Amino acid sequence: MIRMESVTKRYPDGTVAVDRLTLEIPEKAITVLVGPSGCGKTTTLRMINRMVEPSEGRILLDGTDILQQPVHTLRRSMGYVIQHAGLFQHRTIVDNIATVPRLLGWGKAKSRERARELMERVGLDAALAGRYPHQLSGGQQQRVGVARALAADPPVLLMDEPFSAVDPVVRKGLQDELLRLQAELGKTIVFVTHDIDEAVKLGSMVAVLRTGGRLAQYAPPAELLSHPADAFVEDFLGADRGIRRLSFFPSAGLELLTAPVVPADATAEQLAAAEAPDVPYLLVTDPDGRPLGWGEPGALTAGSIAVEELLPYGRPFVAGTDSLRAALDCAVLSPTGWAVAVDASGRVRGVVSQASIGAAIREAHAGRADEPKALR
Ligand code: ADP
Ligand code: MG
Repeated sequence: MIRMESVTKRYPDGTVAVDRLTLEIPEKAITVLVGPSGCGKTTTLRMINRMVEPSEGRILLDGTDILQQPVHTLRRSMGYVIQHAGLFQHRTIVDNIATVPRLLGWGKAKSRERARELMERVGLDAALAGRYPHQLSGGQQQRVGVARALAADPPVLLMDEPFSAVDPVVRKGLQDELLRLQAELGKTIVFVTHDIDEAVKLGSMVAVLRTGGRLAQYAPPAELLSHPADAFVEDFLGADRGIRRLSFFPSAGLELLTAPVVPADATAEQLAAAEAPDVPYLLVTDPDGRPLGWGEPGALTAGSIAVEELLPYGRPFVAGTDSLRAALDCAVLSPTGWAVAVDASGRVRGVVSQASIGAAIREAHAGRADEPKALR
């Protein structure tokens, strides 16, 4: 655990980059520092590994003041990842990753073996080992940066806007990969970003900083979204805070209707039984129970429904696993206003209307639903 006690950084020119910051950074979790440019995020991160010395206050690592530890011991326990990965351009990928093990005197063969193992860990093709950084895409380079930081298996990982320079699709992949990796490795990660969506997605705890290096709020993301401390935090979270908060509520409580779900070879009796006054469309499924599309009850031919005439069913959500936000998104994007719920293998579990999702949302916001879970 890392504890910052009233830490201030005043640069020689008088700039107060961080102002009496007190933070308890939990072990084996991702803590995100987020805030506008110039609010002191990088300075805070660099004080943790002593690339920048605090002017006032104390930083404790597992109860010991970091100033009491030799810098090289401290840095060895902390991997550091930056934007653009900061790779050595004249070294191959495998040797970039092997840098710290080599410095620790592991020997060439063992260091390279460890590097190859890490390449696999972070999802890099082994064929890239002999290439140079400029021969890799931005996303691949960023993975190399993460692998290099993990090479000596440090308990702490400091990441400064590591994914900011890559395009949104690659960025999402890197974020998902980090969450997967973290579930396997359980590092204490301090992650800096200026992107609130990234903060909410990755953080177990999120520290929102304001200009002048002052802490505006420190809370789990669901609480940040439900109870922003002040107008600054609320503004920073953006206008769609309510919708985003739904990501933290499970869809498990939604009541799924199965009556309006019919197979493509439904008989006249089955079609008649599926009709209900408040269900304007029926969902047609294939023999495996996978969705084919929506049809108006009167327009469906018993025995042989014309699949090509059905309305698209959109993107279904996974019942229970996906969040209320995912369910709402499905309903909003569906041409019928109804969302299709499937199980993990894509078979239809039932359908649910926008109105009924709306009722579940009101419950969630009123605090009657289950406490927010760590859904993403
Ligand atoms: P962020 O990472 O949130 O963008 P920084 O920690 O880099 O913010 O910077 C915080 C403030 O400190 C900014 O006003 C920046 O200009 C200033 N600053 C950063 N490094 C130095 C330095 N070496 N000397 C003087 N001022 C600095
Ligand atoms: Mg910065």
